[in-house]
Amino acid sequence: MKTIISGIFDKHLTEAVVKFKSASKPMALTGAGISVGSGIPDFRSVDGLWAIYSPEEYATLEVFMQNPQKAWELYRAMGKIILGKKPNPAHKALADLESAGFLNNLITQNVDNLHQLAGHKELFEIHGDHQHLQCLQCGKTMKVKEEHYQSKNIPQCESCFFPLKPNVVLFGESVRHLDEIHSLISRCDLLMVIGTSAQVYPASDLPMMVKQKGGLIYEFNKDLTSLSSDESWQPGVTDYFFKGDVTMDLPGFVAESLKKTP
Ligand code: ZN
Repeated sequence: MKTIISGIFDKHLTEAVVKFKSASKPMALTGAGISVGSGIPDFRSVDGLWAIYSPEEYATLEVFMQNPQKAWELYRAMGKIILGKKPNPAHKALADLESAGFLNNLITQNVDNLHQLAGHKELFEIHGDHQHLQCLQCGKTMKVKEEHYQSKNIPQCESCFFPLKPNVVLFGESVRHLDEIHSLISRCDLLMVIGTSAQVYPASDLPMMVKQKGGLIYEFNKDLTSLSSDESWQPGVTDYFFKGDVTMDLPGFVAESLKKTP
């Protein structure tokens, strides 16, 4: 693994850019770390949402079905964190890569809509989206409004009056788009892993799938993860590790990659 420290231009960066530009099907996988710079703390961090509302107690499908009042305590807290946030330079850098034709597709574990707000077009939201409410009885979705998170009442489906939930994947529900993602990943020859340690299924399988076919892993994270180093501190699957703040490292890498060569 070659480590590229934030802000330092060296031969590893030049090499990483050259290889990136010759990849035929580069893809990106993003997680909570890319949105921290937009003011959305990682739910899994020590003072994150899951520390206050334990997922087993609030975020399962079972809790919503049996006690929607309780589940909505969590949804309101989540709404307050996510609504109104803006994309940061890392989201914009990925949208620039896509519009320049350098990114084949993006998979995100985030539900915050910040990739789309940055102008990203093609992406898979494997954990759903927080912009809509969903009816589990008839399948209808409706656009979320701020008042849904302020009111004490649980919003109901207009058609069947079933209580609505945010259109996000709860614990106990299936992740989305997995077949399409596996088909794309089987052809992917370079995966950028950004702001995630990719430890949660199905994201956890994707870097290894790319690696086993001879593809490259570019990791953008603040600290080492199990991708960059396994538990015994042996080398992991990462080929280039961009160590630092993703809101700086990713735009820096993208700017180099989009530079016109004379
Ligand atoms: Zn309904």
